Amino acid sequence: MQGKVALEEHFALDETVQDSAGFSPESDWPELKARLLDIQDRRLREMDAHGIEMMLLSLNAPAVQALRQHDSAIGLSQRANDFLAEQVRRRPDRFQGLAALPMQDPDAAARELNRCVEELGFKGALVNGFTQVADHDHAVYYDVPAFRPFWAEVERLGVPFYLHPRNPLAKDAAIYETHRWLMGPTWAFGQETAVHALRLMGSGLFDAHPKLQIIIGHMGEGLPYSMWRVDNHNKWMAVQNRYPAKRKIAEYFRENFYITASGNFRTQTLIDAMLEIGADRILFSADWPFENIDHASTWFDTTAIAENDRYKIGRANAWSLFKLG
Ligand code: MN
Repeated sequence: MQGKVALEEHFALDETVQDSAGFSPESDWPELKARLLDIQDRRLREMDAHGIEMMLLSLNAPAVQALRQHDSAIGLSQRANDFLAEQVRRRPDRFQGLAALPMQDPDAAARELNRCVEELGFKGALVNGFTQVADHDHAVYYDVPAFRPFWAEVERLGVPFYLHPRNPLAKDAAIYETHRWLMGPTWAFGQETAVHALRLMGSGLFDAHPKLQIIIGHMGEGLPYSMWRVDNHNKWMAVQNRYPAKRKIAEYFRENFYITASGNFRTQTLIDAMLEIGADRILFSADWPFENIDHASTWFDTTAIAENDRYKIGRANAWSLFKLG
């Protein structure tokens, strides 16, 4: 399929590239590092070869989110966003930007998003999961009240927020001890991000800000497959789920979330997602450079779905969500 849009696609600065070193064996690191540091060369050739017209670019992980000092987080966000804006200016027909945000300071994060959208023309934000504050052993999730003014600004700007994975902190990862192979994309990324997304849904955030649109990757981080059970377990009991939000979790999932196919190139999984959230809320993505563009595209271009759905998922949904016209 020609004209695809891909939106979980990462780059690195020299100062953040080492954050990705743990996600490849040493023998593959030179290749992954070169992919992360390239924007205008090999990336464009890969896009041309596999029918990707537009990439929305974002900083690698965890980068800003793992910094403990507010000032460092604010400084790195600004440097990354200014660099990305310059890259987009060179090829606005092929690249657009998603902002890195210093979530350590919700007011600063709102201001930086405003700057990125209003001044730099970015199309949204991509944040790498929970943030850390002064006590580095404490994960802060974005359902807590301190983030409500930030979310109000996201809603006001009318741009999507991509909730991208990171690994849990050591103190929250006891279940993975002696099973380190489960960290990262194998399992821990999805678990971490799915719980964060459920926290947002159950918190009442979307009752207060119904226009917010959150994107999660990897075909919904397992949520489509489990959505019915979240709302319907032990249905005979007098008291069902108790949480601050007013509606069923699945209603927020269908109205306030989009999912991407990043790194999860499996037709059976896509079809389950289409049955749960619908083709209008699924977006093609590769997860370059951690996944291959040819693997993503060859699968997506030929997978057995309706051509109308392929067009929506591959291009039209992203075009209208990010107002790419
Ligand atoms: Mn990714």
